[in-house]
Amino acid sequence: MDGADFLIVGGGVAGLSAGARLARHGRVIVLEAEEALGYHSSGRSATFSHFGIGNRIVRALTAHSRDHFLQAAEGMLCRRSTALFIATEEMLPALDALGRDMAAYTDAVRPSDRREMQRLFPPLRTGADAVVAGLVDSDGLRLDSDAMLQDFARSVRQSGGAVLTGRRIASIEGEGSGWTVRSDSGDRWTAPVLINAAGAWADAVAGLAGVKPLGLTPLRRTIIVVDPPQGADVSGWPFVKTAVDDFYILPESGRLMASPVDEVETDPCDAQPEEYDVALAAWKVERYTTLSVARIAHRWAGLRTFTADRSPAAGFAADAPRFFWLAGQGGFGLQTAPAMAEAVEALVTGAGWPDSLARLGVAAADLRPGRLLDA
Ligand SMILES: Cc1cc2nc3c(=O)[nH]c(=O)nc-3n(C[C@H](O)[C@H](O)[C@H](O)COP(=O)(O)OP(=O)(O)OC[C@H]3O[C@@H](n4cnc5c(N)ncnc54)[C@H](O)[C@@H]3O)c2cc1C
Repeated sequence: MDGADFLIVGGGVAGLSAGARLARHGRVIVLEAEEALGYHSSGRSATFSHFGIGNRIVRALTAHSRDHFLQAAEGMLCRRSTALFIATEEMLPALDALGRDMAAYTDAVRPSDRREMQRLFPPLRTGADAVVAGLVDSDGLRLDSDAMLQDFARSVRQSGGAVLTGRRIASIEGEGSGWTVRSDSGDRWTAPVLINAAGAWADAVAGLAGVKPLGLTPLRRTIIVVDPPQGADVSGWPFVKTAVDDFYILPESGRLMASPVDEVETDPCDAQPEEYDVALAAWKVERYTTLSVARIAHRWAGLRTFTADRSPAAGFAADAPRFFWLAGQGGFGLQTAPAMAEAVEALVTGAGWPDSLARLGVAAADLRPGRLLDA
């Protein structure tokens, strides 16, 4: 049996980023069920950070996290990349609203005309029945999810902690002032504080500890990878997303990855792409671009897990004070991880709420898990 100050269940970006911050205050052990870190959502992401997603809390957490990515050694965690938000005629009101929402967090967003949009993204389908307007955001970041996970894991290990894979937690017992968790192969760990960062399984892990679930909803999302036009160098092409949640496409290792922005309610699982969503993705590539999809080079699906109000949850459970929730990172868990980890550090250690988060309008109450049970 090994002991720590903080036990973290879940070796995705949420658990590892929180572990890296908490390692400054005590010994951290991260327990991950799979053999590889980030095997589920964190390793299946589109890895883009932008302000075109989420509510005001998500945008503020995104803004706060940018410094972390940009301050890392040159290009280690991210590279700058343009985002282009596109609209058909019916989407124009949504594009206006998106521009206003994003302008609260960046001054890098401006309207883009058809000529510029096609210069940035040559295969864009424009015209009366296609894309008629757009916004360009030069503040986008392409994240490197594997580098992020390894960097956070390294911080835990360098502080004397441990990041253990292949440890599926099967039971959790609260004893006196602490927790004992057991893996399905019988190994045990103890700590006074348990952090539940189990992604789509966070409600199930709470159930093991007898803690009331938050009602998290995992939603499946599909990605396909298609060939670019012959001879095209797509590396400088932007992340292109519709103003309403319908479609996105971006470069991926010399090809293009696209999503039909599907949200299919699913039980926690090793998500696999469904034929219908793959076909829909291909159809939308042809709807919004002049590309024809002759072949799908790769496909995958992952789960994006949301709370009822689509803000993430971070805080101690009301019914088990040393059980800390870190859940509901939805479709923005990579781009908000550094800010969330700082919030976790403040809430777990009882330190003051970070000024930088307060200045962006994020209060501890916005993340409080109990808000989801108040109704
Ligand atoms: C297709 C897709 C595109 C996305 N695009 C973006 C994007 O562009 N930008 C962005 O910021 N975000 C994006 N996201 C969202 C982002 O990937 C998630 O918000 C983030 O990865 C969630 O991290 P997590 O650590 O909470 O979950 P996970 O990465 O799923 O980690 C949770 C871990 O807990 C482990 N676990 C569960 N139960 C147990 C147990 N009993 N014992 C031990 N371990 C357990 C799981 O094995 C898992 O590894 C996307 C997601 C998908 C699916």
